[in-house]
Amino acid sequence: MTATVHPGDYHANVDPDEISKFEALAARWWDPLSEFKTLHDINPLRLDYVERAAGLVGREVLDVGCGGGLLAEGMALRGARVLGIDMGAMPLRVAELHTLETGVVVDYRRITVEALAAERPAGFDLVTCMELLEHVPDPASVIDACARLVRPGGKVIFSTLNRNPKAYALAILGAEYLLGMLPKGTHDYNRFIRPAELDRWVRTAGLRTRDLTGLIYNPLTRTYRLEPANVDVNYLVTCERDL
Ligand code: SAH
Repeated sequence: MTATVHPGDYHANVDPDEISKFEALAARWWDPLSEFKTLHDINPLRLDYVERAAGLVGREVLDVGCGGGLLAEGMALRGARVLGIDMGAMPLRVAELHTLETGVVVDYRRITVEALAAERPAGFDLVTCMELLEHVPDPASVIDACARLVRPGGKVIFSTLNRNPKAYALAILGAEYLLGMLPKGTHDYNRFIRPAELDRWVRTAGLRTRDLTGLIYNPLTRTYRLEPANVDVNYLVTCERDL
């Protein structure tokens, strides 16, 4: 892993408290019963979603806020060349160690998406950015950088949490307090993003929304499913960069 943090980057658009949360838990990232259980559970669904929306075989892919590498490694296994970036040192170390175990080839770097956009504009066929926007001070800046990193005609796929009473009830009260699926304090409701807000930032960045799909949790069966018509809580958005 190359330490490519440029002076000033760390303070640019990174919340140190958010990074610390993930640093502290990182060692358990690949344990499917750990605090990252939810990410493990949704991973096959979102990999299928990405593959359908953009294709993966032979694609040059950037995964922004890759954490311990669940999505990044999954995409590489399906035939993509993947670079994962994150601002947490421990999650990246865990991601790298895991590739040594599995033999899957993924590159990892500690760099902000904004700094990488200056370095490799239009360098990727596909950019994925999942469960990150609700952890950064300025999500529009991340979206703008993702748009600059993808080639014209390429796709950018985001996932995040909607902001409404139901999302508060399920993602915070339910997941963190009642069911204990996530550690308390994982999410800050005020940072949740409505699809209309995301769409506005996406358009400002020179992207167009092509698809909006909900990711639904059923607490009775403890299973997840994709559902285009229900974006009330967790949702995925596919965007395309203008030609
Ligand atoms: N995208 C991964 C991990 C989501 S957890 C997945 O869905 O499986 C959120 C990750 O974002 C953590 O690894 C955390 O270190 C990282 N992160 C938080 N703020 C960041 C920022 N400003 N830039 C890059 N990564 C950040």
